Amino acid sequence: MAERTSRIPGFFKLPPDERLARVAEITGLDDPTRQRLRDTGNLPAEVADSMIENVIGTFNVPLGIATNLMIDGEEVLVPMATEESSVVAAVSNAARQCRDSGGFHTAMSGALMIAQVQLVDVPNPEFARLRILEHRDDIKAICDDTDPVLLQYGGGFRDIEVRVLASRTGSMVVTHLVVDTRDAMGANAVNSMAEAVAPAIAEWTGGRTNLRILSNLADRRLARARATWNTATIGGESVRDGMIAAYDFAEADPYRATTHNKGIMNGVTAVTLATGNDTRAVEAGAHAYAARTGQYRSLTRWEVDAHGNLTGTLEMPLAVGLIGGATRSHPTARACLEIMGVTSAERLARNIAAVGLAQNFAALKALATTGIQKGHMALHAKNIAVMAGAVGDEVDRVADELVAAGTVRVDVAEAALRRIRGEG
Ligand code: NAD
Repeated sequence: MAERTSRIPGFFKLPPDERLARVAEITGLDDPTRQRLRDTGNLPAEVADSMIENVIGTFNVPLGIATNLMIDGEEVLVPMATEESSVVAAVSNAARQCRDSGGFHTAMSGALMIAQVQLVDVPNPEFARLRILEHRDDIKAICDDTDPVLLQYGGGFRDIEVRVLASRTGSMVVTHLVVDTRDAMGANAVNSMAEAVAPAIAEWTGGRTNLRILSNLADRRLARARATWNTATIGGESVRDGMIAAYDFAEADPYRATTHNKGIMNGVTAVTLATGNDTRAVEAGAHAYAARTGQYRSLTRWEVDAHGNLTGTLEMPLAVGLIGGATRSHPTARACLEIMGVTSAERLARNIAAVGLAQNFAALKALATTGIQKGHMALHAKNIAVMAGAVGDEVDRVADELVAAGTVRVDVAEAALRRIRGEG
């Protein structure tokens, strides 16, 4: 084993194989581990190497298909990439229970992204604000010239907004470029526009531009989903009322709302990842949107309709695309889009919203009735069995024993494994 160091000159220039060899040498990885890392599965090493820096391998997570979803009258199979058990089952289950009332109905507010240009060191910020607003047409021309391809697809500059912000470093003037990015998530598209516009803004105002970057609070790109669940189908009024009370808890308490929204993001992030989209961008936007009133609240709303049935809605920013990033370069992401039958970014976002709503329904129902652990038990027990050292068919045998005993713990699994192996 070589000396343990994190200084590896020229590491970034090496091919993945050689990088792995260097890491193995420094950290003392054994041969089987090295071989496992060399297997990049269905993402070719050269593609991975072109996606991020310093690649030594790939990391697989399970890809499952959520079934039973009917979205805007279409039958949709939804690919979900997640390491968490019960997520795919929960969506499938929730979707089955609203099929008799028409499934999910979705909509989108538009595909508008915002890029921000920060202007500092300007003595008369209010004056500067008006100067910038007067140049709307010039700003439009600069933005649209930056991305003629986007223009060709019907996108491009739509509007500007200019605000004066008070801050610790004094007043700053922040220009928002509102851009329709069509089938792209749009980060690179709008960042390029912000960088192109900034020198002109500095010139018109005499200030100095600093940051030029998109906002992930994509509140002009809201995906909406709604569905009705018949009270009889979901188990009666006590189930419905328990779910409503669980939702009211999230509305009243940020500690609960965080976990409530995390459950929504179980579904949202899994589809976002499966389609090669930027999960952090979607997550940042979702949580900021949930806090827009000044208190962090639920992204969903739950009510009882005039017939006594349960209605749920979800509205959240969903900046996802079919162009750019890993959506095009990752072969599995492309396959997932094909499985879903999605041909526009809007349709993808709308499907993701339906999944988020379904996920929330499933979590609220489980929590308000049997508790979350019952549903988690079977898969969780398998994970614990593997942790205890079970291999092959031992995994199911140990997991079955854990579930039957109602105690899913690694020490109990180890004892069960010893018994199965006849080790006492
Ligand atoms: P991109 O720049 O790779 O592709 C978008 C471009 O594709 C458009 O500008 C346009 O010129 C062209 N295009 C072709 N057909 C189009 C169509 N039908 N609709 C729209 N555009 C079309 O990708 P992007 O979406 O601008 O950037 C997404 C990537 O940026 C993601 O990987 C994300 O991780 C990354 N990123 C994110 C952030 C952030 O979220 N804060 C910051 C920087 C980069």
